[in-house]
Amino acid sequence: MDRVPPGHPEQCQGTGKHGQCPNRQEHGSDYCRGCGGVSTKNQEEVRSFLLARVDHRRKLEGPMDALSRLQ
Ligand SMILES: [Zn+2]
Repeated sequence: MDRVPPGHPEQCQGTGKHGQCPNRQEHGSDYCRGCGGVSTKNQEEVRSFLLARVDHRRKLEGPMDALSRLQ
């Protein structure tokens, strides 16, 4: 887990005994992993993977659709 200087825009919004948590926020979260932040990085990668796959399938199905319309 990375630490960031106090006041850094990516500083975790969690607070502990010693004040604001000095760790870097997880991707897409206001909190670090230690404060319950969950990174959305993997979800974004999965989403773009699924989108790419749908796009690929659409390209494959395109000519098939044209054929079925002719029948
Ligand atoms: Zn934290």
